[in-house]
Amino acid sequence: SKRHGGNTMHVYSSSSESRNPGRLPMETALRRALKREELLIYYQPQVCLPTGRICGVEALLRWRHPEKGVKSAARYIPLAEETGLILPISEWVLHEACSQFGVWSREGISVGRMAINLSARQFRQKSLTGQLGRILHDCDLAPDALELELTESMLVDDVETAMETMSALKGMGIHLSLDDFGTGYSSLSYLKRFPIDTLKIDKSFVRELSTDSRSFAVADGIITLGHRLELGVLAEGVETAEQLSRLYDSGCDMVQGYLFCRPLPAEQLTTLLREPPTD
Ligand code: C2E
Ligand code: CA
Ligand code: CA
Ligand code: CA
Repeated sequence: SKRHGGNTMHVYSSSSESRNPGRLPMETALRRALKREELLIYYQPQVCLPTGRICGVEALLRWRHPEKGVKSAARYIPLAEETGLILPISEWVLHEACSQFGVWSREGISVGRMAINLSARQFRQKSLTGQLGRILHDCDLAPDALELELTESMLVDDVETAMETMSALKGMGIHLSLDDFGTGYSSLSYLKRFPIDTLKIDKSFVRELSTDSRSFAVADGIITLGHRLELGVLAEGVETAEQLSRLYDSGCDMVQGYLFCRPLPAEQLTTLLREPPTD
C-alpha cells in the first residue's frame, strides 16, 4: 500500500548541535521509523451528549517500535518538532487519517469528523492550506469532515499570522478546535477573536473533577464560557461515570476518554462500530 501517499518523503537535516546526549540515537531511530513504516495511527471516538453517538474520532500517532512494541508518539514529538521531522510525519498522519475516514465512509460507518492534531511547525508552514486542499481532494473528503486540533501556544507567539491561518482554514470549511484548553498561555481577549468551533477541556481538570472542587469550578467555567462564545465544548480524559455525570450536569457537549473507548487501531474500531447496539 502507498503508506506515504506515493510521494518521496523529505528527510530534513537537523541542526548539528545536540544538547541532549540521548538525542541523536533517538533522532536516528525516529527517522528510521518513518522510513520503515513503523508509524501507525490509533483512533479514539468522541461522543456526543446526551445521545451517546460518535461525533468524531481523534487520530493519535503511534510508533510500532521493533523492541518496545506500540508506543505513544508523545515523547518523540518535541524532538520531531525540533528537527523538522514532524513535517513529513504530519503529512503522513493527515493522509493516512483522511484515507481511513474514506474507508469508513465507503463501508457505511459514520464517525462524524476526523480530528487531527496539528504540530506547531506544521501550523506555521505557508504551504499548509495547499497541502490540506490536496489531501482532502486525494481522499475525496469534504472539508467539513475534518477537524484540526490546535493548542494555545501555537496561536499566541504571532497572533496576527495565526489568525490569518485560522481564517484560511475556516474559509476552506475545516473545523478548528482548541486542545488542552486551560493549560496554555490562554488569553481570553484572543479567545473571543479566534475563529474556532470547539474548546477541549484538558484532561488534568477532568481527572480531578470529582475530588477537587476547584478543578470542577474550572471545568464548569470553561463550559459556560464556551457556550457564551457559541462554541462546542468537549472534555477529554473522561475515565469514570462520576466525571461523566458532572460534565453532563454542567452541559458539556462532547466527551472523550477511556470510559467510552481507548484509542484503537482502525481495524479494531471498525469491528466495534459494526456491532449492533446492545439494548
Ligand atoms: P492530546 O492531543 O491531548 O491527546 C490526548 C491524549 O490523551 C492521548 O495521548 C490519548 O491517548 C490520551 N487519552 C485519551 N483518553 C484518555 C483517558 O481517559 N485518560 C487518560 N489519562 N488519557 C487519555 P497520546 O496518544 O499519548 O498522545 C499524547 C499527545 O501527543 C497528544 O495529546 C498530542 O499532543 C500529541 N499527538 C498525538 N498524535 C499526534 C499527531 O499526529 N501529531 C501531533 N503533532 N501531535 C500528536
Ligand atoms: Ca488532541
Ligand atoms: Ca488534549
Ligand atoms: Ca495534551
